[in-house]
Amino acid sequence: MTELLDDVSWQGKIYSNGWTTAHGGVLDSTEPATGAVLAQVGLADADDVAAATARAAQAQAEWAAQTGPSRAAVIRKAAAVLADNRAEFERWLVREGGAVPGKAAFEVDLVLGELWEAAALPTQPWGHLLPSSEPGRESVARRVPLGVVGVISPWNFPLILSVRAVAPALALGNAVVLKPDVQTAVSGGTLVARLFEAAGLPDGLLHVLPGDAGPGAALAEDPNVAMIAFTGSTAVGREVGATAGRTLKRVSLELGGNNALIVLDDADLEIASSAGAWGAFLHQGQVCMTAGRHIVLESVADEYLDRLAKRAQGLPVGDPFTGQVALGPLINERQRDNVHRIVEETVGAGAEVMAGGSYDGLFYQPTVLAGVTTSMPAFREEIFGPVAPVVVVRDEAEAVAVANNTEYGLVAAVQTGSPERGRDLARRLRTGIVHINDQTLNNDAYAPFGGTGASGNGSRFGSQSSWDEFTQWQWVTFRDQAHAFPF
Ligand code: NAD
Repeated sequence: MTELLDDVSWQGKIYSNGWTTAHGGVLDSTEPATGAVLAQVGLADADDVAAATARAAQAQAEWAAQTGPSRAAVIRKAAAVLADNRAEFERWLVREGGAVPGKAAFEVDLVLGELWEAAALPTQPWGHLLPSSEPGRESVARRVPLGVVGVISPWNFPLILSVRAVAPALALGNAVVLKPDVQTAVSGGTLVARLFEAAGLPDGLLHVLPGDAGPGAALAEDPNVAMIAFTGSTAVGREVGATAGRTLKRVSLELGGNNALIVLDDADLEIASSAGAWGAFLHQGQVCMTAGRHIVLESVADEYLDRLAKRAQGLPVGDPFTGQVALGPLINERQRDNVHRIVEETVGAGAEVMAGGSYDGLFYQPTVLAGVTTSMPAFREEIFGPVAPVVVVRDEAEAVAVANNTEYGLVAAVQTGSPERGRDLARRLRTGIVHINDQTLNNDAYAPFGGTGASGNGSRFGSQSSWDEFTQWQWVTFRDQAHAFPF
């Protein structure tokens, strides 16, 4: 059976006015599990960015003038193309991204949800009739597109983190220039371009320019770009935010997390430890929503630790394309070395390894650390690896204080036998998202997603929020007849 990418000549190219040669050269797309070269992608530079944004600005006006139903039809078609070709997308997520097949399927399901929600946007009401301050004048507030939206996305959930901005931005009448991370340029970029191309998106509206910091910074700087939707690290988010401030762009920052999973003394520990393992180890812990701090009441801490460590020891790690594994490889050596540094420094400061703590190549064993305190690196830093640091606290008040003891504020989760205690805690946790009797990794395309503090200025994605994010208000008044003024 031919696949979507078989129908076009995409290797070594970028997608900008069709599949074109990039000025930045060509880069191998490699498989982290084996080091094999999977394909070649084009690398964009600042000139490619400038050409793309200029063309996007041209194409946008016509797209915005199309009817809502006709824009919706293109997004619906993209969802249908994805559903028909999901095996191809999942294979790239597994091989290029190091995802286990279940994570890849989960990601494609999330993307379908994003596309369905985005397709519903253009046919929703898009403004208000305002009271008139004078007879004979009609007054309207309406939502209009921003223009060209620059999307910068990371490698860890490459497809969803590109599409969750690309799809609503297009649906609401914007053009998009997407710069995916080079490590997942195909799954977060080439495939997104091909999806919308196959869905019949008119020319010039979507440009996909894989590249590193250079083209990313050029996009943030570009005068044709009205908004940057950035997902990535807090350090780079600060830079992108500063550039957007200086160049007067709207900016959406979805940044890092260091998320608490609180286990109260009335929790079912079999379930809580399972939630803890899922929250800590899914996709090798390389998720902004990973449960990075397990905060457990002291009366149940030993049993929680014991159960979590046993679960960690039972999870096979290896090549997700060829083996039946629960965890695949980390994305690169730099990431692995950083994970291991944090583990070693934390153990050096007095924590104890209950499971894992070692690696082979890019395969890091799921790791459980006991005796972690709030001053240790595994508590303070976002690890972005399969490591569950467990902190023991006396009571609920201390659990809340410890959970809030971070500059991040993305997600928190609570395990408790009492829904009332959970509700009360949810009110006291300083995060953009809280889940009671769940773990930290959740995404619904229709729910506002995002964090506070160093996790960004988010809570912006998700259907209703997409209107706030990707459009701006315009106040328009109409008089049947003009009239004279005192001057
Ligand atoms: P990163 O910030 O290094 O890279 C993210 C993107 O920014 C990439 O496309 C990269 O090429 C680009 N980039 C790098 N330097 C740039 C610059 N100076 N100007 C413009 N663009 C630049 O992030 P990463 O380490 O690849 O991704 C992991 C981080 O992303 C983690 O901190 C994780 O928590 C965060 N993340 C957040 C969310 C969320 O929704 N809040 C989701 C996924 C990942």
